[in-house]
Amino acid sequence: MTPTSRSSRPAFRHIYVHIPFCVRKCPYCDFYSIAGHADRTTFLRALESEIRIRNEQFGPFADIQTLYVGGGTPSCLDATELDALGTILRSAVQFAPDYEWSMEANPESLSPSKAEQIRAMGVTRVSLGVQSLTHGVLSFLGRPHTAAEARSALRLLAEAGFRSWNADLMFGIAGQSLEMLVDTLREVLAHDPPHLSAYALTIEPGSRCAEMADSARFCTDENATARQYEYVVAALESVGYAQYEVSNFARSGHECRHNRAYWARRPYLGFGPSAHSFDGHARWWNVCDLETYQARCVRGETPTAEMEVLTPREICEEIVLLSLRTREGLRWDALPDACPADARAALKPLQVAGLLDVDATGVRLSRHGFVVGDEVIRRVVELVCV
Ligand code: SF4
Repeated sequence: MTPTSRSSRPAFRHIYVHIPFCVRKCPYCDFYSIAGHADRTTFLRALESEIRIRNEQFGPFADIQTLYVGGGTPSCLDATELDALGTILRSAVQFAPDYEWSMEANPESLSPSKAEQIRAMGVTRVSLGVQSLTHGVLSFLGRPHTAAEARSALRLLAEAGFRSWNADLMFGIAGQSLEMLVDTLREVLAHDPPHLSAYALTIEPGSRCAEMADSARFCTDENATARQYEYVVAALESVGYAQYEVSNFARSGHECRHNRAYWARRPYLGFGPSAHSFDGHARWWNVCDLETYQARCVRGETPTAEMEVLTPREICEEIVLLSLRTREGLRWDALPDACPADARAALKPLQVAGLLDVDATGVRLSRHGFVVGDEVIRRVVELVCV
């Protein structure tokens, strides 16, 4: 299995690094991570080996515009481990001027000294997993942090001097009233985060919640979730945040450039267990098992598990799915083949229903379309990707 050969290699300007450790496993989460104690030194050595192997495969990581360290919970690394991670990444990556280096953090593992260390490493943007400031909601979700820890972490980030930062929030959770969401949002906004993400709880197949019961036990009904989403959008817009993607809101200039690169289908490389990479035509991903990942990297083998080459139809679907989630929407000229005139005509009922804005340049979700985004996007895919 050989991802992109050197001769046809695109320029990779975006890198993702997966840190597969968490303090505790949240039952709704399907990201690959290991809870509790683990040998992080061996992992960091393996990560360094993978980066060396990928470097030989893809050439130097030059002019890197965005680096995203996610997980898992990168902030659960201790000071020595963070120091080692920073050294590995800084020696492997040559950043473009004005680069963005994001790192995910959770309230239970972000201390003032760690925030300072992360900033001194070169991280420009921290994404904090707040989710809620209601005690009952956090414990229902099985989050490893308390509301008090989330409040301290928000205060800390507001004063830590990062170029940008984000607070992640969740809604649509069983037992979470609109009032609870209103209170959380008001408190979070008091810290003036430059960026907010707000996601409806979804129970992914493979998570512990999915094994325990059907999603109705964990999520509120669709109407309540839609009302909460509409509230979040209106509340954030009223205080000057622009909604630049279905779930993402930013002050001007604080949009997450790394995520924008994903949505624009720019090539990226992912390092660490379960990390995905993409070269414009094919996607490949690493083994989803820490032991196997480490063993392969240390032996000098690539930890790639599988690769899929996208068909023209799949490429079309991806372009529509990803671009329609953004405020800019889908440009007709972004499609691999000209969109048939009858397909555009078939969008008319969705336009008349107030779900889509369609013009000569492209199509985008209307305000109401964002609320029922997944359904509308699915319908556009069916009509446009023939
Ligand atoms: S939601 Fe975040 S903190 Fe919870 S298990 Fe998943 S990666 Fe870890």
